[in-house]
Amino acid sequence: MSAETTTTTRTRPAYALALTEVRAVDRVSPNFVRITFGGSDLDDFGTPGEVFDSRIKIVFPPSPDVVPAIDRDSDDWWGSYLAVPEAERGSMRTYSVRELRTTDAGTELVVDFVLHLQPGLTGPASTWASTARVGQPLFIVGPRRNVPMREHGGAEFSPGAARSVLLAGDETAAPAIARILEDAPRDLRGTAFIEVPTADDVLTIDAPAGVEVTWLPRETGELHGTALIPAVLQHLGGHAAAVEVRDVETEELLWETPVYSALGEEIAATDAPTDRYYWIAGESGVVTTLRRHLVKDLGVDRAQVAFMGYWRRGVAMRG
Ligand SMILES: Cc1cc2nc3c(=O)[nH]c(=O)nc-3n(C[C@H](O)[C@H](O)[C@H](O)COP(=O)(O)OP(=O)(O)OC[C@H]3O[C@@H](n4cnc5c(N)ncnc54)[C@H](O)[C@@H]3O)c2cc1C
Repeated sequence: MSAETTTTTRTRPAYALALTEVRAVDRVSPNFVRITFGGSDLDDFGTPGEVFDSRIKIVFPPSPDVVPAIDRDSDDWWGSYLAVPEAERGSMRTYSVRELRTTDAGTELVVDFVLHLQPGLTGPASTWASTARVGQPLFIVGPRRNVPMREHGGAEFSPGAARSVLLAGDETAAPAIARILEDAPRDLRGTAFIEVPTADDVLTIDAPAGVEVTWLPRETGELHGTALIPAVLQHLGGHAAAVEVRDVETEELLWETPVYSALGEEIAATDAPTDRYYWIAGESGVVTTLRRHLVKDLGVDRAQVAFMGYWRRGVAMRG
């Protein structure tokens, strides 16, 4: 009797959990700290050159040198994280990849953290970043190496056949905008508006020659959106002067892309010519205001825009 062999093929999950170590901490501007992570787990992480706005999840431990007991061998990173008692697992937050590079010493992952440290307006991520030291361990979850963007589901930039792009965001979206522009084809055309806390927070981006990048520093004490909203509307031919920049009353994060609406709204597919693709991210109230003007006043087709609330004033993020 011949022995039968059964082959089971297990699909690898699209996301990987990496235990990393801080390799460098650079205070690149008054409100950004750039942190480089290393460690052999990162060699199975992301696809250098095709990162765009891929999001990663970072676990900030309850105290800086603690490593929560998350099972690294499990295929279910979320379940493994939740299995750690709440007081020991720390807090998970979402970040973008500023850079993913392969070196002789292995893969390095660079994240630009915004430092928002005012009393009452800070959180575990910003606090951790403000005191990070070389050698500290940190768990990071991100797309697995060589899994295409459309398969890992954690990236939104998708201009399709559009001939030009409009990218707009605040300082939390600056790293994703920078990565998109550095990974984009060199013949990409369009405009990027990036609002930052101060003129000294303007950072270098190697954008395609056909994309004009405009940095918009806020004046001290001004609300997020004060510089961004008028600049975007003016660029699109709207009446920027008539726009009142004020906080909107919702705790929900807006997340609406050409293929998904967090509110469950139908987004009709369009056969219209795709001249321009819009990518807008940042404080959720600001993105909501821009959405209202773009869709209602300027008639921009929703199926051409990714509107993404990255954070919400006065609300601590979860998972
Ligand atoms: C897809 C995605 C990508 C992101 N990429 C980045 C990135 O690359 N770099 C980055 O710095 N952030 C990024 N963010 C935003 C980041 O996740 C939030 O700012 C997050 O709230 C920070 O966590 P925290 O623990 O510091 O504050 P939380 O505990 O979440 O919030 C505590 C308080 O801080 C306030 N707060 C949060 N963020 C800010 C801010 N930027 N300015 C002022 N007040 C704030 C909240 O309103 C709340 O009152 C991204 C978010 C998403 C969804």
